[in-house]
Amino acid sequence: MDISVIVPLYNEEESLVELHEWIKRVMDENKFTYEVIFVNDGSTDGSWQVIEDLAKKFPEVHGIKFRRNYGKSPALYCGFGTAQGDVVITMDADLQDSPDEIPGLYSMIVNDGYDLVSGFKMNRKKGDPLSKTIPTKLFNATARKVSGIKNLHDFNCGLKAYKNEVVKNIEVYGEMHRYIPYLAKNAGFTKIGEKPVHHQKRQHGKSKFMGWNRFVNGYLDLISLWFIDSFGLKPMHIFGFIGTLIFMIGLLAVIAVGGMKLWALHNGVARVLVTDTPYFYIALTMMIIGTQLFVAGFLGDMISRNSQERNKYQVSKRI
Ligand code: UDP
Ligand code: MG
Repeated sequence: MDISVIVPLYNEEESLVELHEWIKRVMDENKFTYEVIFVNDGSTDGSWQVIEDLAKKFPEVHGIKFRRNYGKSPALYCGFGTAQGDVVITMDADLQDSPDEIPGLYSMIVNDGYDLVSGFKMNRKKGDPLSKTIPTKLFNATARKVSGIKNLHDFNCGLKAYKNEVVKNIEVYGEMHRYIPYLAKNAGFTKIGEKPVHHQKRQHGKSKFMGWNRFVNGYLDLISLWFIDSFGLKPMHIFGFIGTLIFMIGLLAVIAVGGMKLWALHNGVARVLVTDTPYFYIALTMMIIGTQLFVAGFLGDMISRNSQERNKYQVSKRI
């Protein structure tokens, strides 16, 4: 099979028939063998009924139904699990992503050897409000910096293409769909590209991702991904280091405060009580914080010793 198209959806009943028709038209024109996997993320409208009807009429249509709404990442994860095509394409259900881009994306994976190609939404200004596009710019700049994938302008584009091998070896969870290129890079798939894609206004229904909290969560996710990538298997290396450093500074400061007091006592010079100088308290606090960080590192190491991930490596070939 050439292509698996995965469509995560939550309450998109009005768009599905048209989306399927459009995908089918493009696939037939290009003579691709394909499947379309609709992942119904706990929709409360008639989406599942529409998918069932489509699946009855078209053998290439498959559906996965979640009992409740989990989010876009879990939906993608389950779609990835069953995808059989050589190239896997993900696309939003709301008709904002154009199936006409499929042949171009397919060719970049198959002919140009990309592991992952992310869409880059063009002509957004017409479609999306400023309150969405400006934070998105900031978000992408940070994600580029932290992930080290310098050539991506649009991490969060729903339209992406992957080698099958990529989707089987990454684990999308929580709200990590925003950082799939970063997950892929961490798994060793480094040939990541971008293709400017046509993007249009939402036709039916409302956006499922609104409000500012998605940016706060987005940044927190980025920090934790970065942390897992850098220190996930060796937390002691960061906590132990910072903890020891802070503790040592505190210790030296305490010795200095005590030493000066002893020197003053010895020479009969008048000097304030040790507990009356702020340095004493600062030094004490630093020693306590240092010890706690050290213990955090130690606990982190104990946890990672027991984690199932501790010996999970990406092996691409064996002979
Ligand atoms: N979606 C989903 N589960 C959710 C939220 C959204 O499967 O909990 C799907 C949604 O139906 C759509 C895609 O994810 O197909 C992108 O969502 P949306 O178009 O609302 O995001 P936006 O384009 O506004 O960023
Ligand atoms: Mg959308």
